[in-house]
Amino acid sequence: MTIELKAADGGVVQVSPEILQAFKAGFAGAVLGPDDPAFDETRKIWNAMIDRRPGLILRCSGTADIVQAVRFARQHQFLISVRGGGHNIAGLAVCDGGVMIDLSLMKGVWVDPVARTARAQPGCTLGNLDRETQLHGLAAVLGFVSATGIAGLTVGGGFGYLTRQYGWTCDNLVSMEVVTADGTLVRTAADENADLFWALRGGSGNFGIVTSFEYRLFPVGPEILGGAIAWRAEDAKEVLDFYRQFTASASRETTCVAVLRIAPPAPWLPKDIHGKPIIAIFVCHSGSIEAGEAVIAPLRKLGRPVADIVTRRPYTQMQSLLDATQPKGRRYYWKSHYLARIEAPAVDVLIAHAKQLCSPFSAIVLFHLQGALGELAAEHSPAGNRDAAYVLNITSAWESAADDAANLRWARDCFEATQGFSTGGTYINFLTEEEGCQRIEAAYGKPILARLAALKKKYDPDNLFRHTKNITA
Ligand SMILES: Cc1cc2nc3c(=O)[nH]c(=O)nc-3n(C[C@H](O)[C@H](O)[C@H](O)COP(=O)(O)OP(=O)(O)OC[C@H]3O[C@@H](n4cnc5c(N)ncnc54)[C@H](O)[C@@H]3O)c2cc1C
Repeated sequence: MTIELKAADGGVVQVSPEILQAFKAGFAGAVLGPDDPAFDETRKIWNAMIDRRPGLILRCSGTADIVQAVRFARQHQFLISVRGGGHNIAGLAVCDGGVMIDLSLMKGVWVDPVARTARAQPGCTLGNLDRETQLHGLAAVLGFVSATGIAGLTVGGGFGYLTRQYGWTCDNLVSMEVVTADGTLVRTAADENADLFWALRGGSGNFGIVTSFEYRLFPVGPEILGGAIAWRAEDAKEVLDFYRQFTASASRETTCVAVLRIAPPAPWLPKDIHGKPIIAIFVCHSGSIEAGEAVIAPLRKLGRPVADIVTRRPYTQMQSLLDATQPKGRRYYWKSHYLARIEAPAVDVLIAHAKQLCSPFSAIVLFHLQGALGELAAEHSPAGNRDAAYVLNITSAWESAADDAANLRWARDCFEATQGFSTGGTYINFLTEEEGCQRIEAAYGKPILARLAALKKKYDPDNLFRHTKNITA
C-alpha cells in the first residue's frame, strides 16, 4: 500500500510499496509503521504533553542506516525528526506525519583510558556513558539526570556537576562524526571541518546527525562526596541567602543545585515532611573526599535541616540522584532564564512563587554555573552564555490534562516575575514547544546566531533539519 508522509514543505509525499521495499532491503535496523506493535511505545517520549504520530519510524542500527535514512529523506523531501534520548522538553525528537529517525538503539561506548577520551554513539543516555567511563575512574562533563540523551544534550551545550571545572559538555568534545544534509559522512574536529565542528557545539540539531561523539574525560571518583540536604520551606530565605554567598565563593569542584518544591514521599525524607513545602540543596564535590568535607561543612551546619544525605558515594549514584523526580510520561512544561547573580529581591520572588505551586511534582530549580565556563571566549562555542552564573529552571510537572492550564500559568507567572533578574539569555535545550525565533535569538545572542545562520546556508540550505529549534539561513 502506498503510504503518505508529511512533506518538509507541509504538503504530502506519496511513498509507493516498491520504494519502501527497496529502502527496507538496504536498511539493517527496523522500519516501523503505525500498525506495528512496537510503534506506539517507540514514538512516546519523556514529555507526555507531546503526543505526535510520525508516518514512519526508522530505528537505526548503525551509521550506515543513518546515512541511508538521510538520503531517503533528501530524495523524497519528507519531514524528519531525529531522536536521541527523547528527553527534549519541546518534543523535537518526534514529528507529526513525517519520519522519526530513531537513534536510541545505538548505545556503543569505547573508552581510551590512556588518552582519556571516550567515543559514544548517539543513542546513549548519560547513564550509559558514565557507567563505562567510571570503570576507569573517568567522566565526561554531562548533566544531572541519567536518563537524558547524550546527543541532544551535547549538541545544545550541556551542563552538570562538572561544568564549573571544565565548561559546557560541548566545550569538551574532541571530535564528532556527522551525517550532513546531503547524506555525506564527515569527521569534524578543531582541525577538520572546523566550521561545522563549531556549529555542532551548541547549534543543536540544525547541522546534521552526529553518529559518534568523542569526549575528553577527566579523573572523577569513582567515589565523590555528595547528596542532598533539605530544610522546611519556612527556612527558604535563610537557605537561599546562604546559597547565594556559598556559591559565590565555592571551589570549582563543588556544585550546588537548589530546589524549592513539595517534599515527595522519598525514603531519604522523614515521613512527617512528605507533602509539605521544602527547600533542598543537592551538592556534589568531585575532588578529594577530605577537601569536600571541609567545603560542605558550613552548608550542613546551616539552620535546622530535616534531612542530610551528603555522604561518600559512587559518582554514578550522584548522577542519578535526581532521576526519580523526572520520570518519563508525566506532563511537563518549563520556563528558564540565565541569571548573572541571585539578587536579594529575586529570592523573595522565588519564595512567593514556590508558595503557589499547584502540583506536588513541580519545582523551582537553581543550578550553579560560573567557573571554567566564563573563562573561554564568548564565541568559543555557540552554546555561549558565558556570563551566566546560574540557570533558573521553572519546572512544571503534573499528571492530568485537566490540570494543564493551571500548571502552564504557574510556570509562566513565575517566569515573568523573574524576567527582570535574567541576563536576557536562555538555554536552547530548555526551550518549550511554543518558544520560537525570539527565544532562539535569546539563547545565542545576535552575533553567534548570525554566524550559525551563515553555516546553516552552507551545510543545510534546504533546511532538512528543521524539526529543531530551527536556525534559518
Ligand atoms: C529530565 C531532564 C533533565 C535534564 N537535565 C539536563 C542537564 O542536567 N543538563 C543539560 O544540559 N540539559 C539537561 N536537560 C535538557 C537536555 O539537554 C535536552 O532535553 C536534550 O535535548 C536531551 O537530549 P536527547 O538526546 O534526550 O533529546 P531528543 O529529544 O532525542 O532530541 C533533542 C534534539 O536534539 C537533536 N538530536 C538528537 N540526536 C541528535 C544527533 N545524533 N545529532 C544531532 N542532533 C541530534 C534532535 O534533532 C532534537 O532537535 C534535561 C532534560 C530533561 C528532560
